[in-house]
Amino acid sequence: MKRLLANARTRVVRAYRRARNSHAKSRVSQVVVLADRSGLPEHLDPRCVYVLGATTPKWALLDCPCGRGHTIELNLANPARTRWTVTANTAGQPSVHPSIDYRGNPRCHYWLRDGRIHWVPNRTRS
Ligand SMILES: [Zn+2]
Repeated sequence: MKRLLANARTRVVRAYRRARNSHAKSRVSQVVVLADRSGLPEHLDPRCVYVLGATTPKWALLDCPCGRGHTIELNLANPARTRWTVTANTAGQPSVHPSIDYRGNPRCHYWLRDGRIHWVPNRTRS
């Protein structure tokens, strides 16, 4: 009986993840390094994380994978604010640390790990 419940819960979680991923672009496959904002395309490619600052990375920009078309800007350098780190694995797929948390309505909260978006369920709003 316990096992049955555990299986049911796994199925629900999987269905939830499929639903989130079906309307969202869940793959971010590369990091693009640019000297400054003048190099940004008019529409950010949803498969890319753009890092601004060729010698010292200052900002990371990405098209939010929720699909609503807003841009996420992450501070990489300013010590007075939350600082993120963008890394790439050997395949060039980016990871971002800590999680990306856009406090909009709805909130967009997820991890980017090895090019994949891992959504954090939106149950609690703080
Ligand atoms: Zn979003």
